Amino acid sequence: MSASQTIACVFGNPIEQSKSPTIHALFAKQFDIDLHYIKRFAEVDAFTLSADEFFSLPNTIGANVTMPFKHDALKWVSSLSSQAKRAGAVNTIIRKGNVFEGDNTDGVGLVNDLKDHDVDLQGLNILLVGAGGAAKGVLPALIDAGTNQVSVYNRSRDKAIALVNETNHYKNDIATVYDDTTYDETRAGFDLIINATSLSLYGELPQISDLVFSNKPVVYDMVYQPSPTVFMQKANSFGCTNNIDGLGMLVNQAAQSFYLWFGHYPEVGKVHQYLIENK
Ligand code: NDP
Repeated sequence: MSASQTIACVFGNPIEQSKSPTIHALFAKQFDIDLHYIKRFAEVDAFTLSADEFFSLPNTIGANVTMPFKHDALKWVSSLSSQAKRAGAVNTIIRKGNVFEGDNTDGVGLVNDLKDHDVDLQGLNILLVGAGGAAKGVLPALIDAGTNQVSVYNRSRDKAIALVNETNHYKNDIATVYDDTTYDETRAGFDLIINATSLSLYGELPQISDLVFSNKPVVYDMVYQPSPTVFMQKANSFGCTNNIDGLGMLVNQAAQSFYLWFGHYPEVGKVHQYLIENK
């Protein structure tokens, strides 16, 4: 690391698996930016200490934040963007002198990746599976993109209800709680199903009716793996042919973070392709 290098990091636990250093190194190369981007492990109860230490280093421009620290980061920063406020989670910290702004780029990341896959969200009926940090991060962006309705399903129903209520506080009636017991073929089908749970990481599936696939929706799994996730495989077995994993979302959310730090928007396609070829 040289004295003139700009420094950024990603906080997480675990963090070894993170592709963010590779992605940001490739972005920095596009603009000849001398960036030193590191993985920063923190104990689960020690985000504040780790963030204080990291930002006491000279030349630190910002950080990404991943599981389980997005809520800790929300409390740590000095101010919040509207995206971070609505998501209730921070995945990007931007340093402006001694002021630290918290933002959330997951929503932009998902919407831009869907665009890259020619999915126009305008007027769509969406099933969002999950109500954790990732679901919270993307729901406002889905609503803002002009969707007709977003039905939220979660194993812990109370969290789905809370998320829907919070969302409708901003824009009424677009978000609704999905009830698997009353879902039947007479309902308008889904155009897009987004799996925002971590279940695919463990080869598991959410407990929802197979009927949700009857309209042959586009299927998006935020988890990315070297081969199609179990959720994508299941959708495929019901005749859904457009099944997308979360790798492009990862690259697109990183692109938005990079833009917030440097004011340059990187080209994502080549970086996405590089990651596909180097899984
Ligand atoms: P959280 O821990 O905040 O939420 C986990 C979600 O998964 C909750 O809805 C939880 O339901 C559900 N879940 C977990 N285990 C089970 C289970 N056994 N049965 C049913 N539901 C379950 O995680 P995040 O929301 O932050 O992340 C979710 C996934 O999205 C992760 O795998 C993460 O890697 C991925 N992600 C991908 C991104 C990308 O760029 N591609 C960006 C952000 C996240 P409950 O509330 O009932 O516990």
